[in-house]
Amino acid sequence: MILPIVAYGNPILRKPAAPITADYEGLSTLIDDMWETMYASNGVGLAGPQINKPIRIFVMDSAQIFANMEEEDETYPDEPGIKKVFINAKMVGLEGEEWVYNEGCLSIPKIREDIQRPELITLEYLDEHFVQHKTTFTGLTARIIQHEYDHIDGKLFIDYLKPLKKKLLQGKLNDISKGKVKVDYKMIFAK
Ligand code: ZN
Repeated sequence: MILPIVAYGNPILRKPAAPITADYEGLSTLIDDMWETMYASNGVGLAGPQINKPIRIFVMDSAQIFANMEEEDETYPDEPGIKKVFINAKMVGLEGEEWVYNEGCLSIPKIREDIQRPELITLEYLDEHFVQHKTTFTGLTARIIQHEYDHIDGKLFIDYLKPLKKKLLQGKLNDISKGKVKVDYKMIFAK
């Protein structure tokens, strides 16, 4: 089932999300729905708060980016990418040189900005079978994971913008929070 995506301005996007247990009701259906929702909206990642669930879960697929990449595009160390579910993720490392990538967010449609983030992120997390992992990610995979991890901590990519840049976007952000934005997927706006 395709779920509506929470738009910027809704307070759920600003609340740190809570961990879940293996008996969380309907977890496998929720994960299926998250994949379906992410692909239907052409996203590369989707986090619990974005589908109105205040829980520490996100899904991401960097493999589809590489699959759709033109030959002449830049090369990345994480080629050919991964597709993964992260539950109760905890960041235990964030290091390496910062680099810029043009980010967008399904909750903040029609806005893309260059964002600086470190190269490597290390997470302790559970997969969809509640098996524990500790992994360091790099490249575009690390980029998406950092963006999605922020969502379960109540952060958004626009938080990294310089105050002036953010000020210039304020009108557009206000429009999104009021539902004054045209998107081709279903959204939940702030009440
Ligand atoms: Zn996002």
